[in-house]
Amino acid sequence: MGERFDLAEVLRVKGAQRYELHRDHLNPQLPRMLHAIGFDKVYTRADGAYLYDADGQDYLDMLSGFGVFALGRHHPEVRQAIHDVVDMGLADLTQFDAPPLAGPLAEQLLAKAPHLERVYFSNSGTEAVEAALKFARYATKRKRILYCAHAFHGLTAGSLSVNGADSFRKGFGPLLPDTAVPLGDLAALERELRRGGVAALLVEPIQGKGVAVAPPGYLAAAHDLLRRHGALLIADEVQCGMGRTGDFFAYDHDGVKPDLVAVAKALSGGYVPVGATLGSDAVFKKVYSSMDRVLVHDSTFGSNNQAMAAGLATMHVMDRDEVVANAGRIGDELRTRLAALAERYELIGDVRGRGLMIGIEFRKPQDRKLRAHWTALQLARKGLFAQTVVHGLFHRHRILTQVSGDHIEVIKLIPPLIIGEREVDRFVSAFADVLDDAHRGLALTKDFGRTLVRQARSN
Ligand code: PLP
Repeated sequence: MGERFDLAEVLRVKGAQRYELHRDHLNPQLPRMLHAIGFDKVYTRADGAYLYDADGQDYLDMLSGFGVFALGRHHPEVRQAIHDVVDMGLADLTQFDAPPLAGPLAEQLLAKAPHLERVYFSNSGTEAVEAALKFARYATKRKRILYCAHAFHGLTAGSLSVNGADSFRKGFGPLLPDTAVPLGDLAALERELRRGGVAALLVEPIQGKGVAVAPPGYLAAAHDLLRRHGALLIADEVQCGMGRTGDFFAYDHDGVKPDLVAVAKALSGGYVPVGATLGSDAVFKKVYSSMDRVLVHDSTFGSNNQAMAAGLATMHVMDRDEVVANAGRIGDELRTRLAALAERYELIGDVRGRGLMIGIEFRKPQDRKLRAHWTALQLARKGLFAQTVVHGLFHRHRILTQVSGDHIEVIKLIPPLIIGEREVDRFVSAFADVLDDAHRGLALTKDFGRTLVRQARSN
């Protein structure tokens, strides 16, 4: 008999080579990019809103794994639910029974969207969107999907067809023949609807890229137009949903009732990948219209017990601990304090978002010296100033953030929804310190430049 599998041993032996192994066997550019900007840390532990390195130093995580750790990392009840479901030794994925935990999780999700009746479970955000696209096309017997400029809905072929950035699409065509309309532009939407053949408009109520918020009244008016033309409204709540904006669904804020809703990320509790597409009975009954069509849209791992258990535990904790209300309250406080900084630092152009989905946009300053510096960075690459801020926050203050998309001067904050005053204080004072430097001169940029050179040399 061979030795028992020992995960700790794999980590001990191979964990130290994680970047080299990634470079050699996975995406070669990821370690390269992380190394270039000095983000290639080895984190050994994570808890709540914090990551820890081997020296025990804490890093405040204002990114939450692109939004999956709404409850923070390793929430004890989600973790326990996964232990429990594995230890119960249930008959999972028989493919020929009704999965026992899918029904309860569907009930929980639908309680948050009482105008809808059915759920399709998959394994990721892009799959939740793919299902919505297919369901909308089948239910309306139309082909065209409208989407918003700058949208992001995932990177599989269908979702890529409704991606608002050429950099993602280039070279992967031909994709589905879909059409972009500017977010907030009702006239453009109506024009496209008049051209006919539109199955649905797919929209993020708050776009992940640049944290662009749909203007007040837009979603409701758009839904009206869509209805009049026999088309559906699909809300992509993969990032902005599950409480992030202070409402359970971001569309709740606008008082609309979308026909299809895509959910993923935070529903996983940060543990087991999951996607969910919520829809009406009418749409689902068209797609699954006969026994012959029972598997017409399906996924092997959808509704698996571990994902469902993680989802149920997440929903339970969210409700009991009033996590959504916390996101609204703390988000308001953080935005208010950041807006106050905007009065002090002319490089801050805008602070926007809702709840704990916040974008900070930088702008060309008036001051002559500052403006020359800004322009030089812009000439090198648009978005570089925001990158120097992200770099400063990380290297000086051990705070993880990101630039919110390619070639834009916006940083995005999507921290765990359980953060409190301590994290807000730490972020605001670190951000002020970094901006102090940015307004004083070139220290921030020089720091960034030094990292690039140092890291290039150590390659
Ligand atoms: N939709 C939105 C709004 C997203 O932000 C993302 C991912 O960032 C997706 C869909 C795709 O999700 P996934 O990466 O799980 O496929």
